[in-house]
Parts: sequence; C-alpha cells; structure tokens
Amino acid sequence: MILHIDMDAFFASIEQAINPRLRGKPLIVGSRGSKMHTVVCAASYQAKALGIHSGMPSREAFSICPDLEFVAADQAKYIWTSEQIFGFLKDYNLPLNYASIDEFQLDTSGVKNPVSLSKEVKEQIYANFNITASVGIAKNWLLAKLASKLNKPDGLTLINDSNFEQILQKASLDKLCGMGGKTGRIFMDQGLKTCWDLYLRFPGFFNENPGKFEEINAQPKSMSHSYTLPKAENNPQVIKAWIRLLSEMVGERLRQQNLVSRTTHLWLSGPEIGGFGAQTTAQITTNDSYEIYLRCLKIMARMPQKAPKIRALGVSVSQLSLRNSSSLLIEEKRREALIKAFDQINSRFGDGAIYPAQVAFIK
Ligand SMILES: [Mg+2]
Repeated sequence: MILHIDMDAFFASIEQAINPRLRGKPLIVGSRGSKMHTVVCAASYQAKALGIHSGMPSREAFSICPDLEFVAADQAKYIWTSEQIFGFLKDYNLPLNYASIDEFQLDTSGVKNPVSLSKEVKEQIYANFNITASVGIAKNWLLAKLASKLNKPDGLTLINDSNFEQILQKASLDKLCGMGGKTGRIFMDQGLKTCWDLYLRFPGFFNENPGKFEEINAQPKSMSHSYTLPKAENNPQVIKAWIRLLSEMVGERLRQQNLVSRTTHLWLSGPEIGGFGAQTTAQITTNDSYEIYLRCLKIMARMPQKAPKIRALGVSVSQLSLRNSSSLLIEEKRREALIKAFDQINSRFGDGAIYPAQVAFIK
C-alpha cells in the first residue's frame, strides 16, 4: 500500500504554529509583501471556511473578511520545515518519495498494518511540528493521493477493494490528480461528474502501477506513465493526444525532482501490432514535456504499420541525471521560464489547470 501524506494548508499552518496569535484565525499567506496587491498562496482553514482560497487576489479576500490576518510568504521557512518532515519520515526506513513541498509518499509494502502506521505518522507530525497532515492509503499513488484529499483537514482515508466503489461515487472528479483543470472539464462536459463515472468509462485509469520508490536518497532510474484505452482506437489525433498527456505527466515529475533524462521509451499495444516498444537516446538531456512528446513521435514513426489500432500506451524516461546547469541559449532560457510558469500555475491552482490544447482530443 502507498501512504500519501499531504500537509493541511501547509504555509498557513506553519505560520500559525510559529505564532500563537494567529492560531484559530482566518489567515492568508500572500505571495508578496504588499497586503492589498498580492495573490493568496495559502489560506488557513478558518479563512477557507469563509470562501477564501489560494489563487484569489488578496484584495478580494480582504473584502470578504476585513479582519483577515496577513503574512507574506517566507519560502525559506517552508522549505526548511518540509525538509525536517522529510528527514523525520526517512527514519521509518521505508521507500520514500518527495512528491512536492507539502506531499510525501511512503511505500508500506511489507508493513502489517498501514492504517496504524498512518495514525502514528499523523500523531508524530503533530507532536513534532504542531501542524496536521491528511493521509490517504491505497494500492497506488493516484488513489492514495485522492484519498488524502477526501477528509481534509487531519483526515485518514483508506481506499481498498471493498469501499472502492462507494468512495469513488462520492468523490467529485476534480478531486483526482490531473482533473482539476481543462482535462477535467473535457470529461465533465461529457457528463462524468464523479471519479466513479470516470472509472466506468475508463477503468484503466485507476490501474496505475503502484509506483515503486527507489531507495531513500537514491535517484529514480526511470519514470513512466501508461494508460489503457477503453477500446482500441486508430484516430491518430486521439492517440497523439494521449501520448502528449502522458509526456506532460512524465515531464512534470522530472521537473519536480529537478531531473533530466536522455532516453525516451514509447510502447504501444493493439490487436494488429501486438506490442511495439522502442526507445531513443539523445545527446541533449531534457525535462521538457513537449520535447519528450516529440521524441515519442519519432519512435512512433518507426512502427512498421501506419495508423494501427492502439489499445494501450506508455511513455517512460530513463538515463536520468540531476539538472545542474541552466541553459545559456536565450531561446532555451525563454522556454525554461515558460515551463516554470506553467508548473507554478498548476501547483497553485491544482494539477492540470493548464494543459496543451492538444489534450482536448481525448474524448
Ligand atoms: Mg497540502
């Protein structure tokens, strides 16, 4: 089982833990120091209860609640706390993944009782850091992450075979990673409202492999995302859209961990081709999703059949290394800045707030 540990209103909770005067009060953390001219980058649960949320202009937040407490974001403090929590979790000696500044994943395969371990982790985090975390437990990271969101704050949610249907029926689609933005809207426009609706239409979506984490502190050797279509498909636009989406997911994970890759691997399977898999290794390393997608298209062009029916596809990257230098070329710098802005918007407004328009072909 995977434990997904998501800190509750992380930045705001840290500020409240440090400063007792702010505890129990509606509070926003602004991305800049000027109170009225910034964007809310975190809201305490007391502020959330009033309808204030991240991404909202601070002026609007103050019009809802004039007595709102305000603190300017202090990244160093949040990164430091995040590293402390990571260090604490490392002591469990289980494969551990640093998913984002306020999200961590433990692979508890071999642990007898993941629920009691989760309780202990939550208690210890509260005892050590005076902030709460919500934990989701499930067979893979996608479901575990969903579970962590369902009973916030201070939640503990297990998804197993016996409650899978019941929980997915109650979970609105936008709770699922990647379904917060445009991609989610494409599915909602087709009448899919809950995660269960998505499961009935695309059962393969939830069969994501458990996502083995590498040994602590070791760099992962590869990263992959795969998908099984509900039926074989030979519309190249639809197939390319899925490859693009999977490339986006892989690229985002590389960038989150500050990694680049040299080798891209694409595999496709379908009734006529059976399985087709090939890879390409480039001189230049990348973590640019679009570049990964272009490399996949080159691989696809090597397939002997033209436009065969495809039932399942997967994109993976390997030969990973730490991205340690910034580009010197102006064009590359511009592209890096664009990707960074893209990731920041997605992390502020929820995964998938922005996706390439091409993904809209997934219907
Ligand atoms: Mg969080």
